[in-house]
Amino acid sequence: MSVGEVRSVLSGFEAMQGLRVLISGGEPLLHPGFGEINRFLPDFRVRKVLFTNGTLLTREVLRGLNVDEIQISIDGMEKGHDALRGADGFRRAMEALRLAGDYGFDVSVATMVHSGNLGEFDEMEKVFKGLGVRDWTVDVPCAAGALKMNRGLQPGPEVAGRYLKYGFGSGPHGGEEGFGCGLHLVCVLADGRVAKCSFYSDRTLGRIEDGLPACWGRLKPVRLSDLGCDCDLIETCRGGCRFRAETLGDPLGKDLYKCHLYGIL
Ligand code: SF4
Repeated sequence: MSVGEVRSVLSGFEAMQGLRVLISGGEPLLHPGFGEINRFLPDFRVRKVLFTNGTLLTREVLRGLNVDEIQISIDGMEKGHDALRGADGFRRAMEALRLAGDYGFDVSVATMVHSGNLGEFDEMEKVFKGLGVRDWTVDVPCAAGALKMNRGLQPGPEVAGRYLKYGFGSGPHGGEEGFGCGLHLVCVLADGRVAKCSFYSDRTLGRIEDGLPACWGRLKPVRLSDLGCDCDLIETCRGGCRFRAETLGDPLGKDLYKCHLYGIL
């Protein structure tokens, strides 16, 4: 997306009384126009969250950053994180997390459960709480993108589901009674296509040229009553992740990772 397109999306979102925008990527700090985008972020009265791997968060960048919150991907303690993201990644991500807190930003962490970090969640919880992390989001990666070629990294539902009990704060995407995940969520992909979330890049809702409200209007909410879920926890669980259910065989079926989290399987 060009700098102008980013500005126009933010205008559309603010006009719709949007609340919270996650500035993501790939790595958003690599966008060649990020400096310009950062300069106009204060013009928009929405909560701005920068979602980054932290490797480019220097003191100089942090001094001038116009966001409310910085969310950093940390996928384990040193062993687990570096197994997924490469040598020295953990040290750099943790340094970025501490620095972001020192500069007064709200900080949050996003963690994926993978086969290399399973023994590290208690320690992560202690470390993140100790650093004043506001939200810790723990999720299981969906079989998409590069993960399709690295299936060994993805534990099955019976193992990974148990780790979804970790995490604290407000959680990934709030919902509403009677509806599944993502009721208030929409994603603008890096090339300007709009989708329910980044996993649905093959079923887009249009392009930003159509206007954000028009694209959002094409989004079909998922009603819990349409799901094949048959447990008493449905309002708490909300049927989990629809994309994950789809990769397990049925878009309206159970998200088995959540079933294992709640111990109903
Ligand atoms: S625990 Fe399983 S069956 Fe119950 S709502 Fe969640 S996904 Fe559906």
